[in-house]
Amino acid sequence: MKCPHCGTSIQLFSKALNKWGRVKSCPSCEKKVKLAPSLKWLLILFIPIVASHVFLLKPYILALGIDGGSFAFLWYVSLMLLTLRLDNAEDEGFIYSKF
Ligand SMILES: [Zn+2]
Repeated sequence: MKCPHCGTSIQLFSKALNKWGRVKSCPSCEKKVKLAPSLKWLLILFIPIVASHVFLLKPYILALGIDGGSFAFLWYVSLMLLTLRLDNAEDEGFIYSKF
């Protein structure tokens, strides 16, 4: 994941990103960043993920007797995690003006 300010890549599970609070700071440039799912990637991945869930996985899940609801929840949470990226948190108003 790249810092939106300096382009340094920051590990998702690094100390810098696992501090409490919504806004974190980049370990390299110390500017504010935050983790947010990318709406663009969410939209791109949504259809194939939902389709694969409904058409490919559901019959197996039902055959195995796994609770379909909690499986779907995990599936959609992993979709959110897949699309996470670092966002500029220096100026809150600016964030949704670009993807
Ligand atoms: Zn940085």
